Amino acid sequence: MSPNYYDPLTHKNCQASGYAPSYWASTIDLPLPCSAPKTNAHYDVAIIGGGFSGLLTAYYLARHFNISCCVLEANQVGFGASARNAGFVLKGSGRLSYPQMAKKWGMDVCKGIYDEFSEAVTRVESLITDHNIDCQPQAKGYLKIAHNHKAMQALKAQASFLKQLGTHDTQFLTTSELEQNYMYNHQAFGAMRMADGFGVNPLKLLLGYREIALKAGVTLYENALVSKVDSTPHQHTLFVNDISISANNVVYAGNAYNNKQSHSLINNRYLPILSSILVTRPLTEEELSQTGIKTHQVTMDTRTLKYYYRLLPDKRILFGGRGAVFAKHQDSPVYLNNLKNGLAESFPTLKNIDHDYYWNGFIAAALDDMPHICLQDNVGYILGYCGAGVSFSAQAAFRMAQMLAKQTVPDLPLYQTPLPYLPFAKFRRFGQLAYYQYAQVKDKIG
Ligand SMILES: Cc1cc2nc3c(=O)[nH]c(=O)nc-3n(C[C@H](O)[C@H](O)[C@H](O)COP(=O)(O)OP(=O)(O)OC[C@H]3O[C@@H](n4cnc5c(N)ncnc54)[C@H](O)[C@@H]3O)c2cc1C
Repeated sequence: MSPNYYDPLTHKNCQASGYAPSYWASTIDLPLPCSAPKTNAHYDVAIIGGGFSGLLTAYYLARHFNISCCVLEANQVGFGASARNAGFVLKGSGRLSYPQMAKKWGMDVCKGIYDEFSEAVTRVESLITDHNIDCQPQAKGYLKIAHNHKAMQALKAQASFLKQLGTHDTQFLTTSELEQNYMYNHQAFGAMRMADGFGVNPLKLLLGYREIALKAGVTLYENALVSKVDSTPHQHTLFVNDISISANNVVYAGNAYNNKQSHSLINNRYLPILSSILVTRPLTEEELSQTGIKTHQVTMDTRTLKYYYRLLPDKRILFGGRGAVFAKHQDSPVYLNNLKNGLAESFPTLKNIDHDYYWNGFIAAALDDMPHICLQDNVGYILGYCGAGVSFSAQAAFRMAQMLAKQTVPDLPLYQTPLPYLPFAKFRRFGQLAYYQYAQVKDKIG
């Protein structure tokens, strides 16, 4: 089955294919996979999914709480979104802005979530430095580019709201400040810069997490698809080929790549959405100076259907944005051309630049636009980063490990509210299609 064709809403499970043909995969020799389980075994916690969330939950369980656990990964670690993303470590997750959070839950909760997102970035930084994970962290800074005048006003309001929350690391940039110090983006109406985002090679980061989890004593099974879980109030039996693994607790960390039917706590409660990335050939010094790009800082725009980009260490440009609604259409040139047009509109001298890599992957969106990390009746799940899970997965995993160790976690909607059902879940792709039509018009006319 072609990797582009796999669709979590259509196919039964994700034991579909090999690695995404990403730029990241070209930068590394992959380790040999660990074996699938060969004999029945028992663990306190069985974690389904070997991405950032699953590996780090296991790491914290083993290292901080001395709890026996295993990770079951249907393919090889890195098959899912964790090794196909853009590698932006951002202070945030989900899609709600801080003013929206304050309106929904009040200032205290909003500040609590801000603190969790901040701790997530610090946590990733500590994991990288404490364990010497060689994942090529780039210069710090996250630029959010206003794509029209209205968006610029909204960014200004956001920057002053963040000051109210007590942050001092956010700065508003005029177009000329942006041009002088960061980039000459032909579509920019100004930008907001947050000081603490940065870019990494996500596959190298993930393999670093794999290594520290193994060192902490975690049992990792690869090529180990969990096809079924039978549960009684006190025990779960997970079926992997002919082997059964029993566990007191089970954690679903498959995110957008979860089996189509996994557990009633998550079925029909998220929407897997395709995002695509291209990576150009390396630019010459002259080409780079013609673009006006002077920074490696991670960048995203304010469109509803956002573009995200950055200059990689070897002077290639990584440029990402929306993919197809239905995975079977992803190979159509429309989606690659959409990225190329987006790149050329911002940096016209790159109009005909060749790309060396192009791939895509699924993110998981939740109806309420925020991630949910929940444990109920010995069943846990981490789901719904809405395309921003590189940093928050570290905090989510830590909190999940705390819950499993029966420690108290902050009283925040992230940890206390279950994933809401999607209305008319069967038709969610058609809802997505309609939303894209609306968003395209909105992004054009402002
Ligand atoms: C193109 C793209 C760009 C992105 N860019 C960014 C970015 O720059 N910054 C950011 O913060 N976020 C980004 N994201 C989102 C981010 O990658 C994800 O939020 C994050 O990686 C999710 O990690 P995870 O561990 O929860 O899930 P995943 O990494 O998807 O891992 C889930 C794993 O579970 C396994 N699995 C599922 N079901 C089973 C089963 N039944 N049995 C065994 N194994 C199973 C799958 O094989 C998979 O490997 C991007 C995502 C995509 C697709």
